[in-house]
Amino acid sequence: MTIAQQITPANRHLPDLNAAARGLYIDGQWRPSHSGRQIDVVDPSTGGILATVPDATIEDARASVDAAAAAAPSWRATPPRKRSEILRRCFELMIDRSDMLATLISMENGKALRDARGEVAYAAEFFRWNAEEAVRISGEFAIAPSGTNRIIVDYQPIGICLLITPWNFPAAMATRKIAPALAAGCTVILKPASETPLTAYALAAIYEEAGVPKGVVNVLTTTNPGPVTSTVLADPRVRKLSFTGSTGVGRQLLAEASKHVISCSMELGGNAPFVVFDDADLDAALDGAMIAKMRNAGEACTAANRFYVQSRIHDAFAKGLSDRMSALKVGSGVEADTDCGPMITRKAVDKISRLVDDAKGKGARVLCGGEAPSGSGFFYPPTVLANVSAESEMAEEEIFGPVAPIYRFETEQEAIDLANDTEYGLAAYVYTRDLARGLRVSSAIEAGMIALNRGLVSDPAAPFGGVKQSGLGREGGQHHGIAEFMEAKYIATSF
Ligand code: NAP
Repeated sequence: MTIAQQITPANRHLPDLNAAARGLYIDGQWRPSHSGRQIDVVDPSTGGILATVPDATIEDARASVDAAAAAAPSWRATPPRKRSEILRRCFELMIDRSDMLATLISMENGKALRDARGEVAYAAEFFRWNAEEAVRISGEFAIAPSGTNRIIVDYQPIGICLLITPWNFPAAMATRKIAPALAAGCTVILKPASETPLTAYALAAIYEEAGVPKGVVNVLTTTNPGPVTSTVLADPRVRKLSFTGSTGVGRQLLAEASKHVISCSMELGGNAPFVVFDDADLDAALDGAMIAKMRNAGEACTAANRFYVQSRIHDAFAKGLSDRMSALKVGSGVEADTDCGPMITRKAVDKISRLVDDAKGKGARVLCGGEAPSGSGFFYPPTVLANVSAESEMAEEEIFGPVAPIYRFETEQEAIDLANDTEYGLAAYVYTRDLARGLRVSSAIEAGMIALNRGLVSDPAAPFGGVKQSGLGREGGQHHGIAEFMEAKYIATSF
């Protein structure tokens, strides 16, 4: 019996796949696509088909902009307290349905249930946080330096927003955008990744139940993302693009948005260094390394991609990491004792295999794992590589899998130079008992986020985002996330 067959709507804690796949969500209605075509949603642990969802066309894209435009005036005029209460209700319903949502995420994305539960809690928190932010949007009032007039600054919703999200956090990447956009008074069109659409639709049903009015959130799935999203961006009523995904697609979308001078927020790829100094607490560094590498089986933009370990602690760290990685249980994400689920697609496994083979060919020593198993499902074992050459492709590219390459370094400056030797600048990890050194190195590393003696940076209350080719703008944080969805209006007046 497949996992899909075991799930019945009779159990409220388990997902109803048919309900999650019932249609595009436009103007508060579940609709078929204009094309009538469907997209297969694949179970990464077997390669079998879980469900199908509609494949939207440019006509559906136009309908979603019409719906978002029709809903915009009244949502913008809805009192902040009322918007806040609706967002708070979204949070409560997500927590109430967290078992169902976590199982659904695990089924379509493959991640271990433990990780999926963590994601639901993280995703829901964006609604709680932005429910609180919705009633704290304030403006500015000042006397002009000349003394001739007053300066009033009003923050207004930016307008209709196109939100595009990846498959690796199907709930959190969507709520991290939707919650602040709605708090700011915007209406949105979400285009989730075609590998993981079911979570986006299950969440849309929750928003509806929480009282989000029709047309405020619209969800489209498509196998034709370029033309469909270009249609949305070309509509002059659309004023914002918020994208999370690869740097390559981000660049294409920035070019597309530039034609219409649309405000862009970009959460792009990473290549996080994990730096361990000789004086680090070894056990704490290993605990942190396991979180930084293995949350989501390595399929995270913040995943530690390069382990730089100082010479004296190098061998103990490498042994400790390989002992821990080889003890992990690999299996279907929905099994309760799975630590490392399958990768998202066969293509992802092939990419990881290519990077590991390249590193091996350049002298890397395999301490554990290192080869994809045969059989069904898209699995790759937890892998530790030592003696990795800085010339390896994996030093440059996101591995996006459970592979930890270890590089040796001698001096603090060398660690900083190695950490910065990448076009990316999203997250970085530093382990040392010397606080002055920790802060010095944190300041010198070119990244939007530094975890100092911690394996996790993500927090809805902190500004998330990158520098260099890792992105533009911030999500979450005290005012940062919501500010991306507002426009400042300045009024000059005298009295
Ligand atoms: P991706 O291939 O860039 O896809 C992301 C989204 O863009 C998907 O919804 C995809 O749709 C859509 N898309 C693809 N081509 C498009 C086009 N020409 N026009 C418009 N939309 C298009 O990335 P991914 O493989 O899903 O996700 C992994 C990447 O996301 C990694 O690089 C990771 O580091 C990054 N990421 C960054 C953050 C962050 O916060 N910085 C967080 C998570 C992930 P389809 O699914 O239909 O192709």
